[in-house]
Amino acid sequence: KGTLYVVATPIGNLDDLSPRAAAILAGADLIAAEDTRHSGRLLAHIGARVALISLHEHNESSRIARICHELDQGHQVALVSDAGTPLISDPGYRLIRALREGGYRVVPVPGPSALVTALCAAGLPTERFLFEGFLPAKGSARRQRLQALAHQQVTLVCYESPHRIVALLTDIDAVFAERQVVLARELTKTFETFLHGSGAALLAQLEDDPDQQRGEFVVMIAPAEPIDRGDARTVEGDALLSALLSE
Ligand code: SAM
Repeated sequence: KGTLYVVATPIGNLDDLSPRAAAILAGADLIAAEDTRHSGRLLAHIGARVALISLHEHNESSRIARICHELDQGHQVALVSDAGTPLISDPGYRLIRALREGGYRVVPVPGPSALVTALCAAGLPTERFLFEGFLPAKGSARRQRLQALAHQQVTLVCYESPHRIVALLTDIDAVFAERQVVLARELTKTFETFLHGSGAALLAQLEDDPDQQRGEFVVMIAPAEPIDRGDARTVEGDALLSALLSE
């Protein structure tokens, strides 16, 4: 049987494609890509000519049989997404689960991910963090999710598109007030920027300079301060206590 390689690709700077990733892509019999035209450009950049098929959230289930068939023939298949590491806020989970269940060999080929790239240069605690991917697009659901996360004593990380960055920061300001937020924009690209401050301060900076609203964003929020009351009470315990008292 062949092997399925899960290959991370650059999130902006093409030089971030590792030599191992390039060799595996160039040597594959088939590449399953989120967007074949987009990945075609990466392949052209490394001078590789490999057959591509699309694999995105709408056809992932139906592609599983096709990829198993290729692997059964002893073909080597690579999975890539538009940018960064496949399966990280990108398609592929259902395919990999099916291959693991079917006893196929799956090999990760690590490389860039916006999540780790942002976190390692943000200056926020990293020993524990919570990755939320994309928060809900709708305002009320997004704010509820942020409220549910507000007591977490770990760094919070999420992805956001330029269309919603101002709306997200507005909600972060409402829920987190003075809490430190770091905005990582256009990582590894020409206009890479890290901004930090409260939600309100960041909103003011984006309003002052609309160029700062363009591009791709990773948003990170500092952990909640531990509640030190000198006893063993916890946020969850307090919530339970107040629920019981109101009964
Ligand atoms: N699989 C990718 C990864 O490993 O990071 C993430 C894919 S997700 C569909 C795309 C989101 O990742 C963007 O909306 C943005 O939030 C974030 N992202 C991707 N590239 C980025 C970059 N160069 N700078 C900042 N954020 C980026």
